Amino acid sequence: MDNEEFRKQGHQLVDWMADYFRDVSKYPVKSQVRPGDILEKLQDHPPESGESFESILKDFEQNIIPGITHWQSPSFFAYFPAASSAPSVLAEMLTATIGAQCMVWETSPAAAEMEERVMEWLKEMLHLPEHWSGVIQDTASTATLVALMTARQKMISPSVNEFGYPNNNFRVYCSNQAHSSVDKAVRMAGIGSNNLIKIDVDNEYAMIPQQLIEAIENDLESGYVPLFIVGAIGTTGSTAIDPVDEIGEIAERFGCWYHIDAAYAGTAFILEEFRSKFNKLDLADSFVFNPHKWMFTNFDCSAYFVKDKNDLIDTFTLTPEYLRTRDEGVVNNYKDWGIQLGRRFRALKLWIVIRSFGVGEMRKRIRYHIELGQWFAGEIDKHPNFELLAPVPLNTVCFRFNPGQMSLVDLNVMNEKLMHKINDSGAFYFTHTVLNEKFTLRLVTGQSNVKMKNVEDAWKIIQQTATDLVSP
Ligand SMILES: *Cc1c(COP(=O)(O)O)cnc(C)c1O
Repeated sequence: MDNEEFRKQGHQLVDWMADYFRDVSKYPVKSQVRPGDILEKLQDHPPESGESFESILKDFEQNIIPGITHWQSPSFFAYFPAASSAPSVLAEMLTATIGAQCMVWETSPAAAEMEERVMEWLKEMLHLPEHWSGVIQDTASTATLVALMTARQKMISPSVNEFGYPNNNFRVYCSNQAHSSVDKAVRMAGIGSNNLIKIDVDNEYAMIPQQLIEAIENDLESGYVPLFIVGAIGTTGSTAIDPVDEIGEIAERFGCWYHIDAAYAGTAFILEEFRSKFNKLDLADSFVFNPHKWMFTNFDCSAYFVKDKNDLIDTFTLTPEYLRTRDEGVVNNYKDWGIQLGRRFRALKLWIVIRSFGVGEMRKRIRYHIELGQWFAGEIDKHPNFELLAPVPLNTVCFRFNPGQMSLVDLNVMNEKLMHKINDSGAFYFTHTVLNEKFTLRLVTGQSNVKMKNVEDAWKIIQQTATDLVSP
């Protein structure tokens, strides 16, 4: 493709993109294809000679789009959203065009310095402790692994980086509602899943601090070494909020590394009314939240903060001769702040998104998303045949249809049926979790462009489908 052809195709592609955003509500939200449907449509062999971009795009529209689940539809209420926005997409076009590989400062000074600046911006926007340092990771899973690896390097002697584990008696703690990325991290960091202790939760699905203390004391008595505690602000199941201030004090008392996982809910720190619930965040050694979930910045972009950047850098710095530059010690070489060597220029989309929206507009939208969730929770609560199954601190609503006179098993089967029926219709998309053995429907009103109308429509469809299920 020569440059003039690129220009022509590029303009047409932007038209396609704008049409997609305009029409995204018209597609079935959850892809309706069956396993193998798309594979069958993809040519068995790579073509010997090049094809025109037009014909490839046409193929994409006809054969690939049906296999897409439309995360950018305002009727996407599943999982947590993967936020995007027009400015973020434009930023990604720039990133791709420049195609810089931002492993060290010298390989694009602007990328490193912009990353430093936008992480300062995020810290200010979220009212995070001033002395923290930030770096962009690809995902929260990576950030949590990085935190655990930093903890083991800092707190285990002799150095695990050099000698491996001296013995295997380290313990990690989180609530039984913590994200599976904690389980994955203990496996990958060589701690072992038997050494991950899951602490019970209260009836709001938040960690019970007294049980954490007891678990740690038991472990100490048995000769284990408590190493790492994860507190969650917004669990994945129900956005439960662990008592993070109290857990921080426990971590301090027992000398554990304290990591806070606020992957989804962290964005709500932009609101004073939410941020003011937390007074002792500076007890945390590390903190992660995902702008790629709820902050209008398309996947992937995870903001990771540490109390002491030297701990992080001590863990990950490794400079072979071919990566040596003149500026070491003077600049941030972000390859030393995490696992990857090669890094995308992710700061650019944050810089463009934050400037395009402005913090005020972001705050307004986040507040509106929470209002939508609260409205929906209120409707559920008022309805005689529906019930809330968890508190709704933000905009994740956990609920079920319960017309009465049914066993737990029957209710579980019926609610699962209700969910599949709606999702298969393509009208909107929501997902489930299990809370206290109850099949729990879960609806999140955090998609970048969600409006009241989308939530009202979803609620109507839920009621109608539920009614049809019990009186066909
Ligand atoms: C989504 C989520 C994660 C994982 O996020 P990734 O960026 O996809 O790795 C971790 N923790 C919590 C609480 C989450 O909700």
